[in-house]
Amino acid sequence: MSVEEISEKVIKGGRIDDHELLLLESEADLYQLGFLADHIRKRLHPEGMVTYVIDRNINYTDICISACKFCAFFKAPEQKHGKVLSFPELEEKIKETQSVGGTQILLQGGLHPDLPLDYYEEMLRFMKKTGIHIHGFSPPEICHFADISGMSIAQVLKRLIAAGLDSIPGGGAEILSDRVRKLTAPRKCSANKWIEVMEEAHKQGLKTTATMMFGHIETPYERLEHLRRLRELQDRTGGFTAFIPWPFQPDNTVLAEQESIEKTSGFRYLRILALSRIYLDNFANIQASWVTQGPKIAQLALFFGANDFGSTMLEENVVAAAGVSFRLSEKEITRLVQDAGFIPKQRLMDYSFV
Ligand code: SF4
Repeated sequence: MSVEEISEKVIKGGRIDDHELLLLESEADLYQLGFLADHIRKRLHPEGMVTYVIDRNINYTDICISACKFCAFFKAPEQKHGKVLSFPELEEKIKETQSVGGTQILLQGGLHPDLPLDYYEEMLRFMKKTGIHIHGFSPPEICHFADISGMSIAQVLKRLIAAGLDSIPGGGAEILSDRVRKLTAPRKCSANKWIEVMEEAHKQGLKTTATMMFGHIETPYERLEHLRRLRELQDRTGGFTAFIPWPFQPDNTVLAEQESIEKTSGFRYLRILALSRIYLDNFANIQASWVTQGPKIAQLALFFGANDFGSTMLEENVVAAAGVSFRLSEKEITRLVQDAGFIPKQRLMDYSFV
């Protein structure tokens, strides 16, 4: 097949296969990819709206036993300055979020060696008193809770949902290929386990998101494997609300030092974003990553498949630790969206409007 034949298939609403994705990646130019991704975005979102959510990332602890090579955020348990936020500190952060119209918090932490499952249940119950939506605990954390409690993933999820967990963020996916995971984050859950957590969460009625961190040691085949696993799971459950790809941020990381990895260019980011939009035909929403790309590339991303501007992120610590510190207020987000010719609309986690 040629790029022209694949394009025709996409325009007619067809699903591309693995071989076709690889062919587009190697042969299509940026404009061809943008045209196809934008065509799909328009088909799925003909009203011309671009959504965003007002929220805050809360990292309840930075103490972590995983020591992923791409992470500049964690503190090893033996390091003195690691922290676990107190319940009053969590409450203050939630109240601040709510006072500016925030509807959810993205709750994520390191894999703490000592805290038992009861602690997380108590934390959720405490936080739920504020009425905020808790989008929390990515699959590696859920697997870690299963390990420390000796329970199954299904039992852990059941208990967390009973304590107030509302949805699960797609963090910790990085690249769903075990070769990449073994080399970059050997102590983190396997690709199969990541998928198992999300499938079980969908089965128990939770909505989740999916992510992909690319631009490090992965090959095009491994990126394809990642996207294929997400598309297959979405076909089975329909439980993902959105896909969020972002490039690896190399500053202050062991991985960049070991492998001499440089920052992914905006050009490459837009290509991967568009390819993801084209391949993941069963995902309704794709988020632009202004946190890693800055406002201008994020605006451009709206023409390469993205229909969502992500969140206002009143607080963000993980990407900031890797030396990237873009900040946008709600006002700036709405202006950027309008200047690009779209209608900004505040949303909730499930993409219903506020
Ligand atoms: S990415 Fe998450 S699991 Fe890995 S070291 Fe950082 S905090 Fe720990």
